[in-house]
Amino acid sequence: MSTELTPDLSISSLDLHEASDPKPTLLDLPVELQKAIIENLSPADFPAKFNLRTTCHYFFALIQPPTHNELLAEEQSPYGCVKELFACRECLRLRPNTKFADDMRRKKNRAKGRQHACMRFCIECGTKETHGPGTGKYTRGAHIKVMGVNYVVCMRCAQFGLALLERDQRPEEKSYCQACLNPILEARRRQEAHAEEIRQAAARVERRAWRRQRLEALGLGSEYEDSDNYYESEDDWGFSDSSFP
Ligand SMILES: [Zn+2]
Ligand SMILES: [Zn+2]
Repeated sequence: MSTELTPDLSISSLDLHEASDPKPTLLDLPVELQKAIIENLSPADFPAKFNLRTTCHYFFALIQPPTHNELLAEEQSPYGCVKELFACRECLRLRPNTKFADDMRRKKNRAKGRQHACMRFCIECGTKETHGPGTGKYTRGAHIKVMGVNYVVCMRCAQFGLALLERDQRPEEKSYCQACLNPILEARRRQEAHAEEIRQAAARVERRAWRRQRLEALGLGSEYEDSDNYYESEDDWGFSDSSFP
């Protein structure tokens, strides 16, 4: 009985030993070996090197950030092309196409591999006002197209937001973002609707006065004098002499 139990206990303790002694990881290797592995990740597997850099403080300190030239080369790599990544000279990141103005990506001189690709910056960097109001690379009021959609650096709130075009805004309001402009346009529409109501009420009063005058001239004034409600229901009455026998 006891001889049957012994092997079972032995296997169990072996399992426990293995569980408490996990296999070594990249972190357990000597620094020289880690560096050799990291160097071999680039440029063949560009993102792996910088993905590893973001996994912990240790590798963040060990791996140098990419240089601008490295990024400009990598944006043209198969990985950069498939993912539609572009380099920003300010934040030194490879960022997706949606983070750049269309002009920054497509303009002849700033497209990938072109002479001024090194001048390209992302929208976030372009709208940053590091040295105070109005010091962004994109000045306030600038209209920027991103993936074919119109945006503006708002003159009013200084935020980068959707632009409203082909609407009835005043010229100075064309540099306002939608968030700022919508309440202004809404208030104006309400004002205009109210002014129109007043205008129509005044016109009705004027029409009634004119009708009374005509009725009085025909000697029918007293008979129809109190019939304002009748006239009001026919807003466009079309009165003419032939209406009366
Ligand atoms: Zn940037
Ligand atoms: Zn705004």
